[in-house]
Amino acid sequence: MILFHPELSPRWGEYGILIPLRDDRSKRVYEHLRTLGKKGLIELDRNGLKLLNKSDLERAHSSDFVEKLYGDQLESEILECFELIDSKGKYHRYNPALAKRDWKDFFQSILHHASASKFSMEKALEDKGFTFFLGGGMHHARSDKGSGFCLINDIVIGLRALQAENKIKSAWVIDTDAHKGDGTAEITCKDPSIKTLSIHMKKGWPLDHPELNHPSKIPSDVDIEMDVDEEEFYLERLRQGLNHLWTLSLDKPDFVVVNAGVDPYELDELPSTKLLKLSKEQMLERDLLVYRFFKERNIPQCWLMSGGYGQYSWEIYSQFLESILE
Ligand SMILES: [Zn+2]
Repeated sequence: MILFHPELSPRWGEYGILIPLRDDRSKRVYEHLRTLGKKGLIELDRNGLKLLNKSDLERAHSSDFVEKLYGDQLESEILECFELIDSKGKYHRYNPALAKRDWKDFFQSILHHASASKFSMEKALEDKGFTFFLGGGMHHARSDKGSGFCLINDIVIGLRALQAENKIKSAWVIDTDAHKGDGTAEITCKDPSIKTLSIHMKKGWPLDHPELNHPSKIPSDVDIEMDVDEEEFYLERLRQGLNHLWTLSLDKPDFVVVNAGVDPYELDELPSTKLLKLSKEQMLERDLLVYRFFKERNIPQCWLMSGGYGQYSWEIYSQFLESILE
């Protein structure tokens, strides 16, 4: 089942944010699959989703941080997370005079987006199968802070909601985005019920913080670090990592979230992803490897979009979904 929500792409300009990012990849993937006559395409609407609340957020985030988001520190948390303020405290890519909507609306739209991630997880579990939500994957948000354009961590929020509702006991998060799933690793580092695997660029953001004990360096259960020019080893290392996590885990997971960022693709346009350059074929093999691993083991899987920038990213999601959907 493929879940699409037409209103989720952020309309930055309405908030005075001057980020020249055209994000229509969800729509392009959805339209493409529809044109091909693929089955299981579902369009979500705003009223059909149960909105996450404070208690949902507090399962992944500190109550201090959640209070800030619902109180008068929302603006400063957003400015920092979306890098709208520079090291001298001046506005960067942001002009409040151009804003037509306020930050509370912005936060509501993020809550709405994360609610759709949770809904997609529920659907995968109900069908004991596979869902791909054309959105979500806010893997950099930490327990006490947003980071890297991820204000809250929809992955852990969704999984812990499923646990609280007694729908699952344990889960894995497989993160194949080019950037380390550092927020997810930090939030779940003392939680044996959620195991994490991240395969990512060895250098660059978010691992380039000079402090050795920076939270972004908290390890996942399995971290696979790809150095420059090591692309030919990528698939084998990922395969070994999955097998290693399987061997490590006495209790097999009830559920898996795959954070399937396509920014490792060689034609991705975000400068910070240039240290990992997988070909289109390698990207397809990557996705099929992960998909089959869990399908063969009958573990329900929910996939999230995460990072993927520029005009070609939609093709990577599409080629995978095209190949597995009837
Ligand atoms: Zn990324």
